[in-house]
Amino acid sequence: MKLPLTGGCQCGTCRYEITAAPIVTYTCHCTACQSVTGSAFSMAILVEEQAFRMTQGELKPVERQGDSGRTVARLVCPDCGSWISNGPRPDGRRVRVGTLDDTSWVKPTVHFWTRSKQPWVVLPEGGQIFETQPS
Ligand SMILES: [Zn+2]
Ligand SMILES: [Zn+2]
Repeated sequence: MKLPLTGGCQCGTCRYEITAAPIVTYTCHCTACQSVTGSAFSMAILVEEQAFRMTQGELKPVERQGDSGRTVARLVCPDCGSWISNGPRPDGRRVRVGTLDDTSWVKPTVHFWTRSKQPWVVLPEGGQIFETQPS
């Protein structure tokens, strides 16, 4: 992995950089991630908020009420709708792995919500597996 990490949306309007190594790389198999990605699971890196900055464009929040009752924001490109990250939280910002320019180094080590994982998904060995999401 080479710092800063760079990435952006599909249309090129929004670009970001990350100046510190991610805290963790994870997959999420919850049904909300399945429906919003149209896929089997989502993948993200957790980075310190101060290590993340936009270098071009501005992300638009799309909010939804999470199961816990708290409002969850997805930040998307206003032009092409690419989901770039979640809104900042006290423990950092979750950036969508697929929006990185270079994903060759990515290897998820934590897997959330495996209770709703699609049965054909085989998790890599040695990871930390959670049936739901620990608080
Ligand atoms: Zn875009
Ligand atoms: Zn999820």
